[in-house]
Amino acid sequence: MSRIARSPWIAACAALALVPAAGCERMVERQIERNLTRVDESVLRSPDLTVVLCGTGSPIADAARAASCTAVLAGGHFVVVDAGPGSWETLDVANLPVGSVDAVLLTHFHSDHIGDLGEAVTQSWIAGRSAPLEVHGPPGTARVVAGFAQAYAADVDARVAHHGEEWMPRAAAGAVAREVPLPAGDGSSLVFERDGLRVTMFAVDHEPVAPAVGYRFDFAGRSVVVSGDTRKSASLLANARGADLLVHEALHPELVGRASAAAERLGRHRLAKLAGDIPGYHASPVAAAETAREAGVAHLVLTHLVPAPTNALARRMFLAGVADAYTGEVTLGEDGMRFALPPR
Ligand SMILES: [Zn+2]
Ligand SMILES: [Zn+2]
Repeated sequence: MSRIARSPWIAACAALALVPAAGCERMVERQIERNLTRVDESVLRSPDLTVVLCGTGSPIADAARAASCTAVLAGGHFVVVDAGPGSWETLDVANLPVGSVDAVLLTHFHSDHIGDLGEAVTQSWIAGRSAPLEVHGPPGTARVVAGFAQAYAADVDARVAHHGEEWMPRAAAGAVAREVPLPAGDGSSLVFERDGLRVTMFAVDHEPVAPAVGYRFDFAGRSVVVSGDTRKSASLLANARGADLLVHEALHPELVGRASAAAERLGRHRLAKLAGDIPGYHASPVAAAETAREAGVAHLVLTHLVPAPTNALARRMFLAGVADAYTGEVTLGEDGMRFALPPR
């Protein structure tokens, strides 16, 4: 019998599971191996343009949804649009190869879009990223990246000192900011083009918050557009034209209005004021559907759901009117959903 089999935790397992110590040892080792081999690297070799929803929630706390995050994988690249709170864990439990993240793209600097940037930078380094993480975004991105670098500096020092430069190279730690100039009007700016994956950035309308942008991904004849936070926007419409998949934010103004009125009745004036302010700079599900129809999009995926529907009735209420505005495919996003677009 090995030394490990005689240890108290193996004895505890044997007593509870009613199996011999050796069986327990095998069980534990199999579980560890399953955990160590769960990551699906094949998605990096796939010919498809793949989209994974890594955060479909909003600033409102939700046990089932991380805040804003959409992952796009194509041509061996792994790009994450926004890193809202909780999104890193969602990417990881989706068994994605998180050590291979190439770049994070920021749409704007609201906390529900950047809160997990520190984890994205740190955990992808721990998972084996070999160079600093690129963080692309509109002007202002460098300030956000510098702030996270300062907050995580002690963590980097500690990990390098503890594990050694060979295993945790300081040269690969941290992030490098790449600010992309805002395009004029309805135009777009090139973020990068690598191995057939072309990424462009365009302005959206999240006033009074500016800059605010969305991104378009083109690969092998397929295209995906991520709206970022926006009310109905001519620039989004122009840049979403003909897209296979439009990942669009959605806020239900009547439901949020009810919440604001209820807060007022209950004397929660601050909450009532804040809830009353937000519908103006987001898009309703019907407005998102209209954009999808006008842009000739094949499939609309709603994300950043406010309020996030929690049952069949709420989902129906959230989507009321959408089918009248748009006859294409509609998906109410949930964390972990995956969409694969084969090359055309
Ligand atoms: Zn926002
Ligand atoms: Zn937001």
